[in-house]
Amino acid sequence: MLAAVTELHYGEQTLLGLNIASARRYPDFVAELEEASGQDVGHRACGTLAVAFDSDDRAQLRELHTFQQELGLECAWLTGRECRRLEPMLAPGVRGGLRVDGDHQVDPRRLAAALLTACERAGVDLHRARAERLLLDGDRATGVELTGGARLTAERTVLAAGSLSGRLAGVPDEVLPPVRPVKGQVLRLSVPERYAPFLSRTVRAVVRGGPVYLVPRENGELVVGATTEELGWDTTVTAGGVYELLRDAHELVPGITELPLVETCAGLRPGSPDNAPLLGPTALPGLLLATGHHRNGVLLTPITGDVMAEVLTSGELPPEARPFTPRRFAAAADAGAAPAVPAAPDAAPSPAQEQHT
Ligand SMILES: Cc1cc2nc3c(=O)[nH]c(=O)nc-3n(C[C@H](O)[C@H](O)[C@H](O)COP(=O)(O)OP(=O)(O)OC[C@H]3O[C@@H](n4cnc5c(N)ncnc54)[C@H](O)[C@@H]3O)c2cc1C
Repeated sequence: MLAAVTELHYGEQTLLGLNIASARRYPDFVAELEEASGQDVGHRACGTLAVAFDSDDRAQLRELHTFQQELGLECAWLTGRECRRLEPMLAPGVRGGLRVDGDHQVDPRRLAAALLTACERAGVDLHRARAERLLLDGDRATGVELTGGARLTAERTVLAAGSLSGRLAGVPDEVLPPVRPVKGQVLRLSVPERYAPFLSRTVRAVVRGGPVYLVPRENGELVVGATTEELGWDTTVTAGGVYELLRDAHELVPGITELPLVETCAGLRPGSPDNAPLLGPTALPGLLLATGHHRNGVLLTPITGDVMAEVLTSGELPPEARPFTPRRFAAAADAGAAPAVPAAPDAAPSPAQEQHT
């Protein structure tokens, strides 16, 4: 989901600004990337409907709507009947909802594949090996050592290793990013022709206190997500996770039980202490970060690329990225509030084992 508005949480207004700025860049970013790669990335400007089931959900969603309006965000309140008129597969019990026409979707697997192709076509030299350690020369980062011992030297190194960003050997403790893995399980169903269009936009709700969403892809896939679990680097797909997702999605859209279940998987969000990314130079000369994107890394792709290009070429973080400097955590640590660095995994997954959910 590219869900700047429906993913809004209290206390995350600064992050909201970055999310919205990135969402605005998406159409141009997709056009440029599809041209550069020759690949379709599955961007769909379909909007989102967030619905409520009971009076508590409804009151909560109403409150969110008021907050969104105070912030000048575009969203419209609909009655239950209006929700079902838009999405006839919704359960009859839906009590109302928020229509957000600006929250769209992209296929993250196709996006990642297109980015790799575009990089290759632009002459980027890709080394598909694990970075084992950061190389240092005195108090300066000078590159990385790869598995097998090869060394890549660089004037500037960007650490962008997702939930493993806080685990690279050689990075001094005081600049290690406070990033932790936040597990999410996801299901993929497919919508046979005879049921199409099953849903026309992303539909989401909070069911029994847990958020659930259904994202209908253009290619007939229906993605159901996602759990949020603090279990370290565990990516096991569990019966409980699959059960909860299906149970909650079924409450929202009962017809899903007719659809073939084609895939279950689990991924790790790179969580940071304030749920916002860490972008730009660290206190160690030559080392920069682009990590900690947590729930919004796909949404934040275009702005992260632009910000990192700017800081790598000019040395300056652009104004919209300054609140996201990695140094904000160093300041918190100096003041006595240690950032939450997770315990080491017993066996960290290899880059090849990870996949885009
Ligand atoms: C279930 C789930 C649902 C999500 N839904 C959404 C959503 O709807 N919208 C949204 O915007 N975001 C969503 N996210 C979040 C988004 O996927 C992440 O924020 C994003 O993937 C972070 O990108 P990244 O490149 O920083 O990290 P990753 O995607 O984790 O990529 C890091 C890469 O670094 C590699 N790596 C790690 N260590 C090393 C090393 N030592 N050497 C070499 N390579 C290394 C890994 O193999 C991996 O390829 C979701 C995440 C999950 C798990």
